[in-house]
Amino acid sequence: MTKLRLAIVGAGPAGIYAADLLQKAERHFDISIDLFEQLPAPYGLVRYGVAPDHPRIKGIITALREVLDSGVIRFFGNVRYGVDITLDDLKKHYNAVIFATGAIRDADLDIPGIDLEGSYGAADFVSWFDGHPDVPRTWPLEAQSVAVIGNGNVALDVSRILAKHADDLLPTEIPANVYEILKTSPVTDVHVFGRRGPAQVKFTPLELRELGEVPDVDMVVYDEDFDLDEASKVAIETNKQVFVINKVLNQWREREVGSASRRLHLHFYAKPLEVVDDGTGRVGAIRYERTEPDDAGGVRGTGEIREIPIQAIYRAVGYFGSPLDGIPFDERHGVIPNHEGQVLDEDNEILPGVYATGWIKRGPVGLIGHTKSDAMETLEHLKRDQANWWTPASPEEESIEELLRSRGVVWTDIEGWHRLDQHELALGAAEGRTRIKVVPRDEMVEISKA
Ligand SMILES: Cc1cc2nc3c(=O)[nH]c(=O)nc-3n(C[C@H](O)[C@H](O)[C@H](O)COP(=O)(O)OP(=O)(O)OC[C@H]3O[C@@H](n4cnc5c(N)ncnc54)[C@H](O)[C@@H]3O)c2cc1C
Repeated sequence: MTKLRLAIVGAGPAGIYAADLLQKAERHFDISIDLFEQLPAPYGLVRYGVAPDHPRIKGIITALREVLDSGVIRFFGNVRYGVDITLDDLKKHYNAVIFATGAIRDADLDIPGIDLEGSYGAADFVSWFDGHPDVPRTWPLEAQSVAVIGNGNVALDVSRILAKHADDLLPTEIPANVYEILKTSPVTDVHVFGRRGPAQVKFTPLELRELGEVPDVDMVVYDEDFDLDEASKVAIETNKQVFVINKVLNQWREREVGSASRRLHLHFYAKPLEVVDDGTGRVGAIRYERTEPDDAGGVRGTGEIREIPIQAIYRAVGYFGSPLDGIPFDERHGVIPNHEGQVLDEDNEILPGVYATGWIKRGPVGLIGHTKSDAMETLEHLKRDQANWWTPASPEEESIEELLRSRGVVWTDIEGWHRLDQHELALGAAEGRTRIKVVPRDEMVEISKA
């Protein structure tokens, strides 16, 4: 029987689901899968994106872990494609590669003042509060009034973490340094801005509803945003998700506000125009234009300009993929150009042996579950393309370890991850918490290799 030596780059849900589905799939070849991950720990954004106060979603890790423990996949953590291994290496040792490298950067928001001091990307903040090893350990939380731009779930995560009292996050797995800094935050008001109306938001109902349950935080919504146009009324009547969101928002309109020490304001029909300098090069205010429905499902400016004083601003307008050495990249959409997961070259021709899945294939939208269907589609092609697979010169399993060793790469394996996992759980247990994450990369590697 032929054997497929497959490399997967990226151990987020997309890469792990691809490995799992392939090992379970009906096929006419044997498989041996090596999973390369730049971080010493697996799980991608489930570990470093999903908010720490969402333990149910973090729990997906249990299922992903079972896949890694199944014995069919070798995990090579702390190995970065483009630095520690190259496309030529992969061609020499494997029949094919699937890139599942996701997205970690912030998309740009092109408005004047966005580069002022005190202006941040949501992705950077998320990486910080989730203990990503490659971002600084500190975060400047000095603002009383903060703006968050965006009407998706990441905007809600960022706003909730900013507004929540640090002690209410303590039972979660937030790293010790994050707790200490959040505890000093002087924030009283978080203002979330969306260009469109309440019936057009991208929040999911569960995430939105959760905001209303945060202790000592008042939800503030404004009556002027609920004068709905015909398209919004139709959306509420016909779309269950929009219906629930509308219901939640209307319940908040009825609530008394004023007793909590912090407030989370939702501003709809508000298009950010400029971040205003406070005179010292720092964020001083947000200037925005009031919009209105344009009767075609969008919005148009009304010309009415407003300003709210703030001292920090977070843009949560989407994530963006990063290019990979030797692999085509679509600069506009931040993805690897592909046809159903088969990577395409500059002439739109299929690049043999190279596949993509997850956020780097489809763009940074959708939930963890969607990466499963992504993987299925990509694998269908991989299985059918057997005639186009690479013919590696050194397909032996040991040869990749020899290569990494010869380059002085210190990689972590699945047993190493178990050691780190147990260590973090024990740190947490000692303080009555779920887990305390180890943040510095060298410490993660050291504990894994112990
Ligand atoms: C802030 C935030 C909150 C979210 N909350 C939820 C939620 O509550 N529920 C939900 O269902 N979904 C949520 N999502 C979406 C979910 O995280 C994504 O759908 C999913 O993680 C995408 O999977 P992926 O494997 O494509 O990418 P990722 O999870 O990003 O994984 C990619 C992996 O590739 C690795 N990698 C990148 N480059 C290299 C390289 N050069 N060499 C080696 N490895 C590399 C990365 O380190 C990473 O581990 C959230 C996303 C964000 C950003």
